[in-house]
Amino acid sequence: MTHFIPQNLPDRIRHYIDGELVDSVGGSTFDVLDPVSNTTYVQAAAGRQADIDLAVASAKRAFDDGPWPGMKNRERARILNRIADQVETRDAELAELETFDTGLPITQALGQAQRAAENFRFFADLIVAQRDDTYQVPGAQVNYVHRKPVGVAGLITPWNTPFMLESWKLAPALASGCTVVLKPAEFTPLSASLWAGIFEEAGLPKGVFNLVNGLGEEAGDALVKHPDVRLISFTGETTTGQTIFGNAAKHLKGLSMELGGKSPAIVFADADLDAAIDSTLFGVFSLNGERCTAGSRILVERSIYDDFVSQYAERAKNIVVGDPHDPKTEVGALVHPEHYAKVMSYVELGKGEGRLVAGGGRPAGLETGNYVAPTVFVDVKPDARIFQEEIFGPVVAITPFDTDAEALELANAVKYGLAAYLWTSDLKRAHTFAHGIEAGMVWLNSHNVRDLRTPFGGVKASGLGHEGGYRSLDFYSEQQAVHISLSPIHTPRFGASR
Ligand code: NAD
Repeated sequence: MTHFIPQNLPDRIRHYIDGELVDSVGGSTFDVLDPVSNTTYVQAAAGRQADIDLAVASAKRAFDDGPWPGMKNRERARILNRIADQVETRDAELAELETFDTGLPITQALGQAQRAAENFRFFADLIVAQRDDTYQVPGAQVNYVHRKPVGVAGLITPWNTPFMLESWKLAPALASGCTVVLKPAEFTPLSASLWAGIFEEAGLPKGVFNLVNGLGEEAGDALVKHPDVRLISFTGETTTGQTIFGNAAKHLKGLSMELGGKSPAIVFADADLDAAIDSTLFGVFSLNGERCTAGSRILVERSIYDDFVSQYAERAKNIVVGDPHDPKTEVGALVHPEHYAKVMSYVELGKGEGRLVAGGGRPAGLETGNYVAPTVFVDVKPDARIFQEEIFGPVVAITPFDTDAEALELANAVKYGLAAYLWTSDLKRAHTFAHGIEAGMVWLNSHNVRDLRTPFGGVKASGLGHEGGYRSLDFYSEQQAVHISLSPIHTPRFGASR
């Protein structure tokens, strides 16, 4: 396989602070690898406390003294739309860089770049839409909600679909009038390095957007603990979320947490089997299985279990694994050798916990790079670690069930509660299940197609708070209730009776 290397790689990945690309204060850097050759292709500036201090100071200046927080929504929306235009114009370039850095298949990376543009357009529209927040109460009293941006927002993002997930935080934070410091994941800082140029071109005022690269326990930790950062929007692992939760407590910061998942896909005997197989394959193997909402536990009604399993395993074996830059590729290379080792350890563990019917290791003919064959374990018991723990790779556990009650119990038998997928033609059962399942998002005979106005987020160990639509704008806004009287008010006259 020839190893594709994009033409436009930077010579170094820097921070972006107060409108300038800069190295770290101490000059330190870290290695960034590409997942096909696993060699270092670039050094990135490793931010620490001093870099975070500069970035937060820049964001605070832009918030306190700059035009952004007080700008009319329509003007802010115009800039957000120009950002979306830029992302759309550069979507092929973005996808190429993202694929090179993450190992995601190029066609899927392109879809993610386009979705990033959509996120900016969506929040541009939302801030100019009228929101009815004024209430007339009896006695000529008018109450209304005055919204203002919270201040400096710290945005901390993971390495799976990095550019899109950054846009999902940047767009509502900027739309609300906050200024930001972004700390992208250290495995995949490449696509984030394009934001500075995109924002400058779109006319975002200096200092509104700042970016500090670096390790989580250094740059991320300093950002969370900084007293001038008013809120943290975090997406990543549950254990990291728990650490951040503790560190943010001292300054009582606003927190939004999108965490891990181990989502069930439940297939009943009355389901459209072809559609369920297509979707449950896509649901766990797209984005290399590095997808927070992956339906990585499939629960199948026993009367169709054998048929489902044999069809599913055959299809999984036919999935095209290989060069992420090849448009025919369906599963590319996992992001990093450390993550590859973690996923492979689950594959080995699974051989003792379930019956392997597809995959089970490195695909033939791909001797280097972080490739894992789509792996299917069946007859997996609910106490197995491959049933309970998030693997975040192309590995699925399939389990049979006999009754609706058992299916629900199995679905809820893990600590996570991000998404759930139900395949049935029985409307009553579908809704009853949806209401009984401990998951922030439920797809009925569908997967991952959602209107951006709906809440996105998990319950239990999968998150805290919801993003999406007005919920995102609310998170980045102070909501001040203002109460006015338009007529004399008849207050009990304390102290006037003597
Ligand atoms: P991670 O928690 O290791 O890292 C996420 C980010 O947090 C990175 O930028 C990292 O540098 C930073 N970080 C690490 N330690 C930190 C600390 N002590 N203080 C501050 N920041 C710190 O997660 P990951 O491995 O990059 O991403 C994969 C995880 O993200 C999976 O669990 C996946 O399910 C989850 N995820 C969730 C969603 C969702 O919407 N629920 C979406 C995508 C990914």
